[in-house]
Amino acid sequence: SRHHQLVKVISLHLLALSSPLLAARFLAILLDGDLEYTPDHELKVSLKTEQPEAVTTKLRDAGLLLLPAGDVVKIKACDFCDGDKRDPIPYAEQLQEKLGGLSVPKELKIGFNGCGMACYGAVTEDIGIVYRRKKFDLFLGAKPIGRNAHVGIPVVEGLEPSKLVPLVVAIVEQFRQEGLPNERFYKFFKRVQNIQGFMYQEVPTLVALEPDVC
Ligand code: SF4
Repeated sequence: SRHHQLVKVISLHLLALSSPLLAARFLAILLDGDLEYTPDHELKVSLKTEQPEAVTTKLRDAGLLLLPAGDVVKIKACDFCDGDKRDPIPYAEQLQEKLGGLSVPKELKIGFNGCGMACYGAVTEDIGIVYRRKKFDLFLGAKPIGRNAHVGIPVVEGLEPSKLVPLVVAIVEQFRQEGLPNERFYKFFKRVQNIQGFMYQEVPTLVALEPDVC
């Protein structure tokens, strides 16, 4: 209903909840809501209210980052080794500012990892960004779930940092313009074959597969 506001709080700022005071405030705000912890390390909040803005304002004021639920862009950044590896953080923030929460044909996750360890699994997201030797590597079109799951296709190594944000914005814009309703990003890449000049490459299937049941 129009009174039913669903908000999501992404993991980037979840660390802040390790403060007992903030956690207590957060729970107090959500006293009447449902809270679900998702496989993407998000807190998904559902509650019925006549005044959704009053709730979202309180959550924002508590220092949390909110995203609308549904088919939107999500930036999934690592914790940059608890902030020790700071150099790439401004680029993650710019992407969040320009793209976070934007509506897309199907939910689009952009993984952003601060070093070549990529320990938060950026290469398994729809778009994967890895900072390495002061430059960026870019991966497109991973399929993160299912028996034929695969990582993204590496399309650029050693991208100049100044080119990262405009390129990722252009990729997302192409998906917004040309993607079919409900079309996942890896299927979109396979169908259009060319995203911003990067050509699709067939991913080898290593197991004999029956068709997906869902
Ligand atoms: S990906 Fe690299 S920078 Fe990010 S948390 Fe893991 S080890 Fe640290």
